Amino acid sequence: MQKKVFLKTYGCQMNEHDSERMLSILREDNFISTNIKEDADLILFNTCAIRDHANEKFYSHISEIRSLKINKPNIIVAVGGCISQVEGEELLKKYSYIDIAFGPDNLDNISAMVKKVTFNNQNNQNNQNNQNNQKKQKREKIFDNKYDNSPLYSFKETKFVHGNPKAYVTIMKGCDNFCSYCIVPYSRGREKSRSVDEIVSDVKRLVEFHGIEEVMLLGQNVNSFGRKNNEGKDRKDNSNENFVTLLTKLEDISGLKLLRYTSSHPRDVSDELIAFHGESKKLADHLHLPVQSGSNKVLELMNREYTVEHYLSIVERLRKSNPRIKVSSDIIVGYPGESESEYEDTLKFLDQAQFDFIYSYAFSPRPRTKAFELPATLTREQKLKRLRHLQLHQISIQEKVRKEMVGEKHVILVEGRNSKFDQSKSQNESNKSNGSNEPKETSLMWRGRASNLRIVHFNPFDSKRDFNFLWKWVEIKITSSTAISSKGQLIRVL
Ligand code: SF4
Repeated sequence: MQKKVFLKTYGCQMNEHDSERMLSILREDNFISTNIKEDADLILFNTCAIRDHANEKFYSHISEIRSLKINKPNIIVAVGGCISQVEGEELLKKYSYIDIAFGPDNLDNISAMVKKVTFNNQNNQNNQNNQNNQKKQKREKIFDNKYDNSPLYSFKETKFVHGNPKAYVTIMKGCDNFCSYCIVPYSRGREKSRSVDEIVSDVKRLVEFHGIEEVMLLGQNVNSFGRKNNEGKDRKDNSNENFVTLLTKLEDISGLKLLRYTSSHPRDVSDELIAFHGESKKLADHLHLPVQSGSNKVLELMNREYTVEHYLSIVERLRKSNPRIKVSSDIIVGYPGESESEYEDTLKFLDQAQFDFIYSYAFSPRPRTKAFELPATLTREQKLKRLRHLQLHQISIQEKVRKEMVGEKHVILVEGRNSKFDQSKSQNESNKSNGSNEPKETSLMWRGRASNLRIVHFNPFDSKRDFNFLWKWVEIKITSSTAISSKGQLIRVL
């Protein structure tokens, strides 16, 4: 019998990918996805504990489930991900209607956990239907936040449910860095990597049998990939596995067209990796390299183990190695103790780094981390004021750096119509009311991403107006660019 799962994911690409993996496992048990909670047999939350905002959203959403569970008692409510890993026991106590809480290392057991709760529910139902047993049965709950303690991280196959040529492939998990503000080492455990051989055969299979052409390698700190797999090995031993060994082998896979990776730590960017960015034919012209602050004092407080000068030297060498590369970053403002002048150092740093874009956040203390213990030195309003100002500053940098793209030719993978196309109904309706039968230009446009990750919009030639560009590789000449996106002319379909 077909069953329905409503899945809500919070946080990073790693979580999105974990969710896809769970959906793929649940499909084998006849589950299909639904966007309507009320229709679901299983409500599954994949949570994120990294930022306050995602945390608050989850707690507001889980509270809404209470009335649903009253009306539909056999609906199964499961909470996975990082919040569950660190707060799962409290969650089960506080919200009586949660049936399952499990950490990221246990998501492959989602099917077994759901089956167990379904079985218990049926047993309870049968017992209650039995007139001799009027007693209300106690619901059994499942809690599993055990870390996977095996020395190697291994799973044979990347699982996904989408039908496009892009795939996330997890290559390592966990983190040993203990940045003072970050909960990941507590929620995802110690760093460990899959073997190079396992990843290479996994990617080969994705390319050969699933039509995958673009792969994003995932991990909390991908450029320290393989570090632990080498423990005990002679340094001169050629079998040592590092991130560049892996990239070199993936590069050789015929049919694979583009390789991306995230996320990286500046301390672990090796000379070898910088050189590979210049030599590789498949590595994207983009690197996301979180810096977090432009002040050495704040970086030290954050336990980041590099300086602003070291970071800038990496960016300079990367740009020399591959002149087309674009670098993006993460910034946290308002870290405890960040003075006005240290904040201004970050603004100056943005001027020097000339990032292509940044993800920026106001610091929010996460329980269990070192920074949680530090006294707040700024109010929320002061942090948000710094954040808004920093974002405007970055936008002005982006306006300038992205203009340099005009006139260049780029190959993009088409991901869909211009998003304004989705609103074309109302647009066409307004055209009609204006007496115009012509659809607006935007409604004919397509959009995709260049190797440097920038979004590019383009119009097809007249002769290709009805051509379906979705998931095709095309070459575009850029004609204009703003801080957010670019527009170009189609040259050819590859
Ligand atoms: S490197 Fe730092 S910020 Fe990144 S996951 Fe590890 S502890 Fe968190």
